[in-house]
Amino acid sequence: MAESKVRKAAAPAVKARKPESQLAMVRRARKINRALAELYPYAHPELDFDNPFQLLVATVLSAQTTDLRVNQTTPGLFAKYPTPEDMAAAVPEELEEIIRPTGFFRNKAKSLLGLSAAIRDRYDGEVPGRLEDLVTLPGVGRKTANVVLGNAFGVPGITVDTHFGRLARRFGWTAEEDPEKVEAAVAEIFPKSEWTMLSHRVVFHGRRICHSRKPACGACPIASLCPSYGEGETDPEKARTLLKYEMGGQPGQRLRPPADYPGEAAARATAAEHEGAVPDMADVEVAE
Ligand code: SF4
Repeated sequence: MAESKVRKAAAPAVKARKPESQLAMVRRARKINRALAELYPYAHPELDFDNPFQLLVATVLSAQTTDLRVNQTTPGLFAKYPTPEDMAAAVPEELEEIIRPTGFFRNKAKSLLGLSAAIRDRYDGEVPGRLEDLVTLPGVGRKTANVVLGNAFGVPGITVDTHFGRLARRFGWTAEEDPEKVEAAVAEIFPKSEWTMLSHRVVFHGRRICHSRKPACGACPIASLCPSYGEGETDPEKARTLLKYEMGGQPGQRLRPPADYPGEAAARATAAEHEGAVPDMADVEVAE
């Protein structure tokens, strides 16, 4: 009895599904963006970096692992190879050993050596600030290029990673699965000036509340705007236990989060943890 009351109380004000016009969808999408901006005013990239080269390297390393694991790996990496010239001249086995905890380390080392050499030889040692140049670098696809453009160069970009694609479909913004098609569909809905922050907000929501396997619908502040309410746990108490990072009272992914981040910074991994790193697959990024 008590449980049914809780369930009833949790149900959001989503009306029975009617076909939605494109205009109504766009209005609802923009409301979601505004609500997410209120929920995550501190949304930011969750990779630690100090310059475009560090962000590029960290983004390449983030494929198939967590940002936390990358953030625990890059301080040692950048201490040893601070510039593209230094990294291009690395002994491959030594580079592999440092990035091993991020997984797929042989391929990633090849990409880092290749992109560092290309930046040294073709771009005078500076990471290029144009999409068409970035995607010519080894291991750099459109998603990585957009991360770097949006966060290191201030060029608006929509970053369609696994979280963004999943949420765009749950929100009913698109039915597309292909990241480039998702990007094109979302670009039609939002003004360019919103693209970078929208990407961070949606990814924040995907990592904290709207998880891939068990979205915490019963604790989701935008449930009334979401046609997929009910895909996950609707019981508010149970849903609250699913929240992650600062929403769940846990440390975040960055060792050096921005000053306005309300959660705790992540801790450096101990040597043993680093060696035996097993990423939380719920938060793992898919390769490009
Ligand atoms: S209501 Fe559920 S599916 Fe919709 S955004 Fe919230 S957690 Fe995700």
